Amino acid sequence: MPLYNYDCTGCESVSEVLIRRGHDEPSTCKDCGGDLKRRLSTFATPQSELDKIRTIDPAYKRMVEDHMARTPEAEPMRHLNRLTPFSAAEDPGDPIDF
Ligand SMILES: [Zn+2]
Repeated sequence: MPLYNYDCTGCESVSEVLIRRGHDEPSTCKDCGGDLKRRLSTFATPQSELDKIRTIDPAYKRMVEDHMARTPEAEPMRHLNRLTPFSAAEDPGDPIDF
């Protein structure tokens, strides 16, 4: 949930408001009834998963990727080796008539 700061254009007060999904933003000051203007704040900007990944230290990312490459799951032939070869497959019989 984003947290926004609002400046009142009437009395100069600043209010911090947590905006819940589906709820409207406040439009009037609770102190004087004046109009509110949302202040731009860096921490209120929602960060996407991609943005988070981009902020990861490149050295750490390389270490994780190196480790992942050495796991058995990284072996591409592992899936093919589990499949039954055509030569060993049984005759599936007549086609099913839907
Ligand atoms: Zn006000």
